[in-house]
Amino acid sequence: MSDTMPPVDQDDIEWAYYLWNSLSIGKGRWVLPGVGAYLRTGDKELTLTEIHFDRPFVDELGASVFNKHHWIMVLADNINWTIKEEVIIAFDGEEELLIPDQLIGHVSVCAERCGAVFRVEAAEPSGVYVKISDGLECPCCGKALAIEPDLKGVHVVVDDKGYLLKQERIQEEE
Ligand SMILES: [Zn+2]
Repeated sequence: MSDTMPPVDQDDIEWAYYLWNSLSIGKGRWVLPGVGAYLRTGDKELTLTEIHFDRPFVDELGASVFNKHHWIMVLADNINWTIKEEVIIAFDGEEELLIPDQLIGHVSVCAERCGAVFRVEAAEPSGVYVKISDGLECPCCGKALAIEPDLKGVHVVVDDKGYLLKQERIQEEE
């Protein structure tokens, strides 16, 4: 996956060293476009606190938020820094992702039984999140009012494995 990002070179290492050391501990916030915001949380520690997903999720280099965050981790390794993840807020373009704490871990299925499964998960760089529409349309089969109202407006992780299997089976039967 990381082959979409250039290898870390000496210039990158020096750039990170000076940039990160210039941040004040506990307050210094560094925004990396296409990834999010890192807070300096220790002498040699940064914490990813915000994720900024941009549409499309993968840019013209073929690099996703996850690739870029991974690249930063490799860079940090080179200068003995640690990168932690404690995402407090995530954005999809201009819009803040709605992932209510009390719903994290919640699993739901499409009421039309198309096979789609929805999970509410904490935001992380490798995640792909789909917003449930006001019409509670299923992102897989497209049927309206197929999702429980509690998930209206919430960004969920869509597991479409069951849906795809069902589609295959329907095609075989035809
Ligand atoms: Zn469905």
